[in-house]
Amino acid sequence: MKTIICPNPNCGYRGTPRREARGSALLGCFLMFLFLLPGIFYFMLKSGWRYYCPRCGLQMGVQN
Ligand SMILES: [Zn+2]
Repeated sequence: MKTIICPNPNCGYRGTPRREARGSALLGCFLMFLFLLPGIFYFMLKSGWRYYCPRCGLQMGVQN
């Protein structure tokens, strides 16, 4: 787990970020079931994680 430094000057949190999955796996499976290619594209675009500051909730950016 990487360590982040919050860019919010009022927060300045330093530590591990809160991690959330992007997109919905359920919706991806649904698209894959109905239309194979859009489902695959959905997973390609939506895979990865978002990182948030656990103190102030600021989004750090997206990493795949
Ligand atoms: Zn913060």
